[in-house]
Amino acid sequence: MSTQKAVQISRIGGTEVLEINQIPIPKPQPGQILVKAAYAGVNFIDTYFRSGLYPVPLPFTLGSEGSGTVEAVGEGVTKYKPGEQVVYYGSGSYTEYLNVPEKAISHVPEGLKLEDAAAILIQGLTALTMLRESYEVKKGDTILIHAAAGGTGLVLVQLAKALGATVIATASSPEKLEIAKQHGADYLVNYSGGEDEWVKEVLGYTKDGEGVEAVFDGVGKATFEGDLRVTKRKGSLISFGNASGAVDPFKINRLGDKNLKLLRPRLFGYVATQEEFDHYTQELFGYLKNGQLKLNIHKVYPLEDIVQAHKDLEGRVTTGKLVLKI
Ligand code: NDP
Repeated sequence: MSTQKAVQISRIGGTEVLEINQIPIPKPQPGQILVKAAYAGVNFIDTYFRSGLYPVPLPFTLGSEGSGTVEAVGEGVTKYKPGEQVVYYGSGSYTEYLNVPEKAISHVPEGLKLEDAAAILIQGLTALTMLRESYEVKKGDTILIHAAAGGTGLVLVQLAKALGATVIATASSPEKLEIAKQHGADYLVNYSGGEDEWVKEVLGYTKDGEGVEAVFDGVGKATFEGDLRVTKRKGSLISFGNASGAVDPFKINRLGDKNLKLLRPRLFGYVATQEEFDHYTQELFGYLKNGQLKLNIHKVYPLEDIVQAHKDLEGRVTTGKLVLKI
């Protein structure tokens, strides 16, 4: 067998541009591990590549992370052997076989199922690195987490609680808010009533109505203006995604009104070196092991149902993580 199935796009657009094609199985190059994939995680970023929000060269194989077993290793790779279970991030994971560089892969920790492993790296590392480096959350802080019942949101809520923060969580329905609560959120705000309403509610949960120490916002366009209103003087606004669209151009002198810090981090900038990746991956696995982090898989979709998976994620009907069975 020399070819394999892969979910690709050859043009940008809605879910109609998703294709399942046959592509060659690659050979591992020096420093790479060839993985036989079992599962792929589905992330919102995959929809940005598909829609053209984040431009990529076409044709493009979608998927940003997954889990599976080592099939073969390239020259110089000594840490991994065929048959071992691994979890990884990197481009092109909606496929049966892919090459992964050594600095983006880790052994699956004992006791973690492959299905769960595919659900953890991108959202888990994004949440952890932001709570450590974008704004270092401290015991006693009150922070706001938007889309708190989503994949990244539920990890943020649990890790922020583990670090001692008080968490105000937003979501678009009572059911989603209940899930955020079950994962530790202290205060719940349904933000579908409009900016003035959710801003007022959030401020009402903060000391003297002064606002939160930090906002973690993966919603983007729809919530950015409200974020500026609820962030406390000298607080941090971490805008890390565009689920509702990209944030409009912004005049930086507005930050001076409250001496705010505005960050727009990407995970890959926090785990760019082997050392950083290993450090945060091990810390993340530690939270899983000690029970402070629980994974929430919304649904495992067969690879053939990729259209439905993207529709569900973009249609706001999911909570937690979507996974593809390869
Ligand atoms: P989620 O599981 O969180 O799904 C997105 C959620 O966003 C929805 O469930 C929905 O929750 C909310 N949302 C608000 N407005 C909209 C809208 N107009 N359309 C669709 N959804 C909307 O996805 P992920 O966890 O994969 O990603 C969350 C965010 O984090 C994304 O913006 C993603 O790009 C970002 N991200 C950024 C990374 C980085 O490196 N910077 C890395 C990983 C993720 P509700 O119905 O409650 O509003």
